[in-house]
Amino acid sequence: MNNPKSIVIIGGVAGGMSAATRLRRLLEDATITVLERSGNVSFANCGLPYYVGGVIEERSALLLQTPESLFDRFRLDVRIHHEATAIDVARRVVAVRDLATGQESELAYDALVLSPGARAVRPPIPGIDRALTLRDIEDTDRMTEAIAGAGSAAVIGGGFIGLEVAENLRHRGLDVTVVEATDQVMAPLDPEMARLVADALEADGIAVRLGASAVEISEGGVRLADGDVVAADVVVAAIGVRPDTTLAAAAGIELGQAGGIAVDDELRTSAPGVWAVGDVIEKRRPDGTAGLVPLAGPANRQGRLAADSIAGLPVRNPRALGTAVVGVCGLQVAATGVTEKALRASGRPHRVIHTHPLNHAGYYPGASALALKLLVDPDSDAILGAQAVGASGADKRIDVIATAMTAGMTASELLDLDLCYAPQFGSAKDPVNMLGYLADNQHRGLVRTAQWHEVADLATHGAMLLDVRTVGEFAAGTIPGAVNVPLDEVRERLDEIPVDAEVLVFCAVGQRGHSATRLLAQAGRTVRNLDGGIKTWRAGVRARP
Ligand SMILES: Cc1cc2nc3c(=O)[nH]c(=O)nc-3n(C[C@H](O)[C@H](O)[C@H](O)COP(=O)(O)OP(=O)(O)OC[C@H]3O[C@@H](n4cnc5c(N)ncnc54)[C@H](O)[C@@H]3O)c2cc1C
Repeated sequence: MNNPKSIVIIGGVAGGMSAATRLRRLLEDATITVLERSGNVSFANCGLPYYVGGVIEERSALLLQTPESLFDRFRLDVRIHHEATAIDVARRVVAVRDLATGQESELAYDALVLSPGARAVRPPIPGIDRALTLRDIEDTDRMTEAIAGAGSAAVIGGGFIGLEVAENLRHRGLDVTVVEATDQVMAPLDPEMARLVADALEADGIAVRLGASAVEISEGGVRLADGDVVAADVVVAAIGVRPDTTLAAAAGIELGQAGGIAVDDELRTSAPGVWAVGDVIEKRRPDGTAGLVPLAGPANRQGRLAADSIAGLPVRNPRALGTAVVGVCGLQVAATGVTEKALRASGRPHRVIHTHPLNHAGYYPGASALALKLLVDPDSDAILGAQAVGASGADKRIDVIATAMTAGMTASELLDLDLCYAPQFGSAKDPVNMLGYLADNQHRGLVRTAQWHEVADLATHGAMLLDVRTVGEFAAGTIPGAVNVPLDEVRERLDEIPVDAEVLVFCAVGQRGHSATRLLAQAGRTVRNLDGGIKTWRAGVRARP
């Protein structure tokens, strides 16, 4: 084991405090000093929106530790209202300002851990100072005070924090509008999945303005680029976060291409004796690129890993899948790995699978539909990413898939997973197993599929659109130009299905379409199944700007 005498940690929340407590468990004799600019350490940032919404009733529930409790248990020297203002990497010294007294001092270190997190992005538009952000307890107090007596709010940004804040302000009884500059909410999802989230927001009475750029914030609300004004007593900016690299950059510590601190596999920065963890660093993504993954799980794990590295234990910092979940208006929205839009943008070959299984056996009361999506490398069958949206069970499926990705399992191997089952919890063929069945069919070349965004092009090029749902379902609405031959009649009506043109089969969610596709392929037709059926196609078409 290494034996550093003096360890300084900048940032006393997720990554910083994980590092501090692990270090104490490894190095009982070291002096460990934690510098925290705000008035609190180890607070529950992820709970802040729910305190604003009144779901978490006690403010004290957000404060998990105090400097006193951390001293009593871990003998940590935790200094709140103390800001690190500069790092001299040559002298191994941190300059510190006591924000309460203004007093300046220096702290020498043998090992330094940077966990300063990220800062909320504030776009340079007139009136931006009126916008509230939500990063810490002080922000939370400001927001709670501002919404008291307010009737309406505009939340700029439809990412996960923006949507959590929007839902919680609605919960407080405010009229809420989400203003999002891109064409979809929830960037970690693809548009046809994100559309389901926007639907849930609107069903809850939250207005969603997509493709709407805020250009000015005034007393009356938010003015958009198209001239519209969203009236709002309170404006919240939740436009995203940027790694807080100010100190590191000034100290000459190397930054990466994505704008975070560059670290090696042991979370060491370019400066000797300096480690960095959490939102401030760049992570290795599943596709090998470096990216930013501002999430609590990686920050906590990296805090522990940096401590191990400082103590001289062997360390391996794994790829950051970016596994995340958010609750939005009764929906669970979860994702891991990369999106289809990112794969398309990078030109990387990929295969897409959509399914719409029930979260548990349909005959057991309370079953609800999930929208599940899997992204697969067509050559290696590796799992590249997954997304799930549904009232229940989305978190479990994404966690299972993230585990499979971490273990290096292929998409087809998802069918081998021996998952727990009883009717109130799942299905004998769990939705994750179903993804494995579908991936296996594709990997073996048993079925070809088409995506919702390919339908118009296929039809233009002469493909027959074959709706194999029932006559009643067809009459209630179909894809323009489709012909109806219900699955149970396909064998008898084969002569209606051309041999000299491509056939695109579809049903409600893809399951009957799969049976029809297999039947037609064996009957000599060139056939594809519409992945995710008309349900995915409808969501996709509605997601188009
Ligand atoms: C409202 C909200 C909800 C969230 N919800 C989720 C969620 O549900 N799931 C999830 O995975 N993630 C969530 N996150 C993200 C998660 O909280 C962060 O990814 C995680 O806290 C990052 O840990 P960190 O240690 O890098 O930074 P932080 O936990 O942000 O801690 C950094 C600390 O460093 C301090 N600091 C910065 N500079 C200095 C300096 N120079 N001197 C002294 N102190 C300094 C800051 O004051 C700050 O307290 C949420 C974040 C917010 C704000």
